[in-house]
Amino acid sequence: MSREREKDLSGDFYAEVDAYQLVPNLSECLACGKCTGGCPVAALTPSYNPRQIIRDVATGNTDKLLESEEIWRCFWCAGCYMGCPVDIHFPLLMMELRYRAVARNRGLKYILPFKKFALRARQDGLTFVPSPKSRERIMELRRDMGVTPWPEISDKAKEEYAALFDLSGTTAWLEAIEMASAEPVRSTYSEGRITGE
Ligand code: SF4
Ligand code: SF4
Repeated sequence: MSREREKDLSGDFYAEVDAYQLVPNLSECLACGKCTGGCPVAALTPSYNPRQIIRDVATGNTDKLLESEEIWRCFWCAGCYMGCPVDIHFPLLMMELRYRAVARNRGLKYILPFKKFALRARQDGLTFVPSPKSRERIMELRRDMGVTPWPEISDKAKEEYAALFDLSGTTAWLEAIEMASAEPVRSTYSEGRITGE
């Protein structure tokens, strides 16, 4: 990809990404780099740089971020948040970036393996439902250990859970995503950097 130019940047990108204002203090970033320095992913993958990602959100470097593999590397350990001197919640920002990427059909390969679990949760109120045989074995083990029986989920609770999925649009969204519509993600993030960081 060619080096991005000013016209490629979006002044509204931060507002778009943080539509729910989960990370309202991004402008307070000191660019100290503690987040990157303490990140286990950055230690193993030098191209991964939370500080740079924050800068790109702030400057509206939309395509570089949403088309990049880098935003799928974080595993939400929250080490960056714990160490940040101004309490910027980078893991939440990452969640929002991924949401924006998926809305553009990027990174679907990371989302699709969880689709069946999410739809299962909608149906049964649990992401994992054991087979009758496994369930009996679990009950037996719980009895032997003297702990409460397998927790039952009432039909009313299941109905309410399904309604939440449906009314929020989650069910329709889950059913619509499929690999056939996936756009590729680029593994190189540093290519075409404005800053050269
Ligand atoms: S640790 Fe916090 S202030 Fe420092 S660069 Fe990271 S987000 Fe910005
Ligand atoms: S939450 Fe993500 S970016 Fe932050 S330290 Fe952990 S892996 Fe790195």
